[in-house]
Amino acid sequence: MSFVVAIDGPAGTGKGTITKLIAKEMGLLNIDTGAMYRAITLECLQNGISNIDDKEKIIDIAKECKIEIEHIEEEQKIILNGKDVSREIRSKEVTELVSPISSIPEVREIMVNLQRKMAESKNVIMEGRDITTVVFPNADVKIYLDADVEERAKRRYKENVEKGIASTYEEVLEAIKNRDENDRNKKVGALKIADDAIVIDTTNMSIEEVKENVKAIIRKKRIQ
Ligand code: C5P
Repeated sequence: MSFVVAIDGPAGTGKGTITKLIAKEMGLLNIDTGAMYRAITLECLQNGISNIDDKEKIIDIAKECKIEIEHIEEEQKIILNGKDVSREIRSKEVTELVSPISSIPEVREIMVNLQRKMAESKNVIMEGRDITTVVFPNADVKIYLDADVEERAKRRYKENVEKGIASTYEEVLEAIKNRDENDRNKKVGALKIADDAIVIDTTNMSIEEVKENVKAIIRKKRIQ
C-alpha cells in the first residue's frame, strides 16, 4: 500500500508551491489535480466549448482525452493528448471555465479514478479540493490549507505578474471569490474540510513556515 498525503484548500493558499517543495524534499510524487481539471477545460475550449450547456460533449471530451503527469527534473508537466500544456492551462479563459466544468459529476468520476490509479504504486502528495474527502478519505495524512481571501488574491496576483499573465488585483480577487463560491457548492466533490483533516491558516505564515509545519505532520505519521 502506498503512502498518501492529501492536501485540500481554496485557490491561493500555497498548496501548489508547498506540495512541490515537500515532494522534492521527502521523496514523494507530486500530483496537482487542479491541473488535470484545467487540462480538460483547455481541451473543451479548443473544441469551441465556452460554457457548460453542452454537458454531453464535455463528458465525451473528458472520456476521450488523455491526461498524463510527467515529472521532468522535479518539475511537474501536464501532458494533454501527448502535448505539454503546462503553461496554457493557467490562462484566464481556462481559470474562468474550470470550476463549472469540474462541477459535472461524470467529469469528476473520470478524474477521481485516474487520480487513484496514479497513487496505486507510488508514495504521493496530492493536492486539490476533494482529495481528503473523496479521492483518498483514508489518506495517511490529511491537511486543509486556508487563508483570508484578500491574502490569497494578493498571492495569486503576484504569481500572475511573475508568470507574465495579464490581470489586475481586482480581477483576481473577483475570480477567486467566484471560484470559491462555485467550488464550495458543488453537488459532488465540493470543497470542504474533512472531519479528521488538520487545518492550517496560512494567512500570516511564510511558505517556509507552512512547509515546515506540514513536513512535521508528515514525519510524525511516517514513523508511526
Ligand atoms: O488548484 P487549481 O486552482 O488549479 O484548480 C482549478 C479548479 O479545478 C478549482 O477551482 C476547482 O474548481 C477544480 N478542482 C476540483 N477538484 C480538485 C482540484 C481542482 O474541482 N481536486
